[in-house]
Amino acid sequence: MKTFDHIIIGAGSAGCVAAATLAKSGRRVALIEAGGSDEGFLDALDAGRWKNLVGTKHDYDYRIEPQPHGNSSIRHTRGKILGGTSSINTIIAWRTPDYDLERWVEHGADGWGPNEIGPLFDQIFDHVHIETSTLENRFHHDLIEAAGQTGLNLVDFSPQNQVQDGVGYLYFNKKGRMRQSASVAFLHPLDQWGDELTILTNTRAIKILFDGNRAVGVETDQGKFYCDGDLILSAGAFASPTLLMHSGVGPADHLKDVGIEVQHDLPGVGENLLDHPDSMIAWETNRLIPAVDLNAMGMAAFGKTDPSLPVPDMMAHIGTAVFDTYTKPHGYPTAANGFSFSPNVARARSTGTVRLRSNNPADRPVIDFRYFTDPYDQFILTEGIKFSRRVAAESPLKDWIKRELFPGIDVQSDEEISAYARKVAGTVYHPAGTCKMGRADDDTVVVDSQLRVRGMQNLRVADASIFPTMIGVNPNITIMMIGMKCADLILEG
Ligand SMILES: Cc1cc2nc3c(=O)[nH]c(=O)nc-3n(C[C@H](O)[C@H](O)[C@H](O)COP(=O)(O)OP(=O)(O)OC[C@H]3O[C@@H](n4cnc5c(N)ncnc54)[C@H](O)[C@@H]3O)c2cc1C
Repeated sequence: MKTFDHIIIGAGSAGCVAAATLAKSGRRVALIEAGGSDEGFLDALDAGRWKNLVGTKHDYDYRIEPQPHGNSSIRHTRGKILGGTSSINTIIAWRTPDYDLERWVEHGADGWGPNEIGPLFDQIFDHVHIETSTLENRFHHDLIEAAGQTGLNLVDFSPQNQVQDGVGYLYFNKKGRMRQSASVAFLHPLDQWGDELTILTNTRAIKILFDGNRAVGVETDQGKFYCDGDLILSAGAFASPTLLMHSGVGPADHLKDVGIEVQHDLPGVGENLLDHPDSMIAWETNRLIPAVDLNAMGMAAFGKTDPSLPVPDMMAHIGTAVFDTYTKPHGYPTAANGFSFSPNVARARSTGTVRLRSNNPADRPVIDFRYFTDPYDQFILTEGIKFSRRVAAESPLKDWIKRELFPGIDVQSDEEISAYARKVAGTVYHPAGTCKMGRADDDTVVVDSQLRVRGMQNLRVADASIFPTMIGVNPNITIMMIGMKCADLILEG
C-alpha cells in the first residue's frame, strides 16, 4: 500500500488549493474526492450552466430539518465533483472584509488578521482570474440613479477593495464564460501532475483511521490510504463534521446515542452552523430588461440598518429576472420580465447543528439551521425588504415597474413583512462554522489557529467549517484562502 505525505479529503474550494500548494512544494499528496472530474465537462466549466448540475448526481442536494421560524423546504446544493461547490456556484468574488478577519482574531484565530492574510489573497488572485460584469445597460443605469436618490452611491466592489455600503457591479471568478473554480485555477490540466499529486476521483471517504489519537489514513469505498504527515479534512461544512463524528471525534453523548465508539470527545463538532439566509422581493417590468451578465445577476447593494455601523449588515443580490423558487409554491404570481432583490443577513446570529442520523455513513446527516431563532436575523431581513422597496420607489427605476409581484403592496407592517420574508426565505448557500477555529479555553472550538483538531495529532480541517463567525460577503475566495493558509501552516512546520 502506497503511503503519502498528506491526504486531503475533499477536492473543493479549499481542498484543491491546499493540494496544489503542498504538491508544488514537493510534498506527495493524495486528494480524495467523492465526485468525478470536471475536466472537459462543460456544465461545470461554463459558468452560465450551473443549474444543469443542480439536483443531479453532481449535487449532494441536502435537505434540512423543519424550521419553526423559517422555510423548511430549503434545499442546500453542494458540488460533488472536482472543484466541489466552486464548480457549481455563481462565481461572485470578494476578499474577506478586514472587519471579519479582526473578529476571527478576537475569537482566538492568531495569525489570521488582515495584515497576515492580505498576501494570501494576492497569491490566490495570481491563479484565479477575476473580472466584472461586462454588459451594463439602461436598466442598470436607472437602478444606480434610483439607488443614489436613497443615499446609496455607486461603489467599486472589486476584491481589491474593502466592501462598503452602496450599489455596484459584482466581480466574478471567471474568464469570459469560463468558471475559475478551485480545480480550474489550481489543478488543471490534471495531466500536469506526477507523483507529487495523486487525484483519486469517485472515491468516498468513510472514516479517518487513527493510531491512538494520531490520524494515519482514511478508509474509503475504494480501499484504505495512509499518510505519514497531516491528514486534512476539506469536505465542507456538512461533510467535514459528519466524517469526524463517524470517526469517533465529536460530542461524546451524541456519538454514544448513535452507536459510535468515542475516539475523542469534542463537543463543538457539528455546532455553530452558520449561513446567509435571504428572502426575495420582485417586480414585473413593463418592458424587457436588456440581457445582462451570466446568471442574470450583475449587481448588488449593501446597506446599513444604522449609519453608525462600521460595516454594512445587509447585502442584496439584484437579479434581472424574477427569482421565484420559494415564492411560487405559495401561489405568489411570477412574470417573464422582471427584477428581484434578495436581501440577506450579512452576519446572521442564529446558529444550528449538524448531527448524525445513525452510525451508517451512507445516511444523510441531520441538518438543522435553526434559521431566524435569533430575532436579529428577522429584523435584518425585514429591513432588507424595506430597503429594496425604497430603491424601487425612486425614479427612474420606478418607471420600469408594472407591479410588485411579491410580497405584494398589501404587505406593509414589519410583522407582515417578517412573516412573509421568513416563509419564502432561501439561502445564499453559504453553510459554515461547524468545526470552528478559536482558543483553547472555549469548549466549542474544534480547531486551533493552526487548523489542528484539538486533542488529535496529524489532523487538520481546512474548509468553510472553520469559520468562527460568518463573514459579510460571499465566501468562496475566503475558503480558497483557507486552503492556502493550511498548506502554508504545514510547510512552515
Ligand atoms: C448554488 C450556489 C451558488 C453559490 N454562489 C457563490 C458565489 O457566487 N460566490 C461565493 O463566494 N460563494 C458561492 N457559493 C458558496 C461557495 O461556493 C461555497 O461556500 C464553497 O465552495 C465551499 O467550499 P468548501 O471547500 O468548504 O466545500 P466544497 O467546495 O463543497 O468542497 C467539499 C468537497 O468535498 C467532497 N466530499 C464531501 N464528502 C466527501 C467524502 N466523504 N469523501 C470524499 N470527498 C468528499 C465534495 O464532493 C466536495 O468536492 C455558492 C454555493 C452554491 C451551492
